[in-house]
Amino acid sequence: MADLKCKYCGKKFIKGFSCSHSPIKSHVALADGTHCVYCGDKFIAGFSCGKSPSKKHQLDT
Ligand SMILES: [Zn+2]
Ligand SMILES: [Zn+2]
Repeated sequence: MADLKCKYCGKKFIKGFSCSHSPIKSHVALADGTHCVYCGDKFIAGFSCGKSPSKKHQLDT
């Protein structure tokens, strides 16, 4: 996994870790154009994402 940072708290993004600053209560990665901001996996359009509120990988919130 790439070394992503949480956009809400600035700490290292770890999938599924709780984040008190985030509106969805878990870390959300800074958008880098390549990785899903909710799970940190490589973004593939239309693929389901267990961490995303929309249930699909997203490049940005
Ligand atoms: Zn965070
Ligand atoms: Zn995802």
